Amino acid sequence: KEKEEVDNLENRKTELANISPEEILSFAKLPLSRKTLKGLKDGSFTVPTKVQRQSLIFSLHGTDVVAAAKTGSGKTLAFIIPLLEMLYCKRWSPMDGLGALVITPTRELAYQIFEVLKKVGKEHDFSAGLVIGGKDLKYEWNRVSTCNIMICTPGRLLQHMTENPEFTSDNVQMLILDEADQCLSMGFADTMNCILQELPSDRQSLLFSATQTRDVKDLIRAGCNNPVFCSVHEYSK
Ligand code: ADP
Ligand code: MG
Repeated sequence: KEKEEVDNLENRKTELANISPEEILSFAKLPLSRKTLKGLKDGSFTVPTKVQRQSLIFSLHGTDVVAAAKTGSGKTLAFIIPLLEMLYCKRWSPMDGLGALVITPTRELAYQIFEVLKKVGKEHDFSAGLVIGGKDLKYEWNRVSTCNIMICTPGRLLQHMTENPEFTSDNVQMLILDEADQCLSMGFADTMNCILQELPSDRQSLLFSATQTRDVKDLIRAGCNNPVFCSVHEYSK
């Protein structure tokens, strides 16, 4: 028998408080929307990886999360799932504008994240856009203003924030910083700090990184509010 869907954040929090990471043997054990569960199932994702199990119980709860885990450990789904669920629980509609931002260092990574979002989020009605530069900024002005979810590279996002009169991040509920260590080693520290200043301070922030350098710690201090730390070691499965 299929479990009843819990689509109210307060009730979900109660459920999440009673689950330990080891018990999450399948995504269906978590309080997720039917739409996300279908997207996961159709994408052949059934068993969460360790970083997903460890972080989802907090990120789905609405808490800020910092997760350090090596490349290939499944960090993308660890943030795409709470992103979709946050918008879903808040009954976000396409008219509500930009609700979630994902920042990743390269265009290639942005494309990959966009593909995962399309796959796992296919049952939801949210609009999503890739904002990675390459074209004249003006071609993107209108399109960007209708996105509920944006997957961006740092420089291009800041360009919209400073030059595009149609762009607003006033309603952003969630910020995801992917591959934070790489963003910083590529020289985006100042850009990231400018972006952080533009965003509402009552948002939820999730930061993912393969390593935790001193620069990453500075970014965590600037961008996250009382985060839970999840560190997944190479030798653990
Ligand atoms: P990371 O960002 O940590 O480097 P990715 O999110 O790119 O890792 O995931 C690495 C690979 O693992 C991808 O091919 C992805 O499809 C796969 N993957 C992620 N989570 C799961 C899962 N729960 N079950 C099966 N495969 C998964
Ligand atoms: Mg990644």
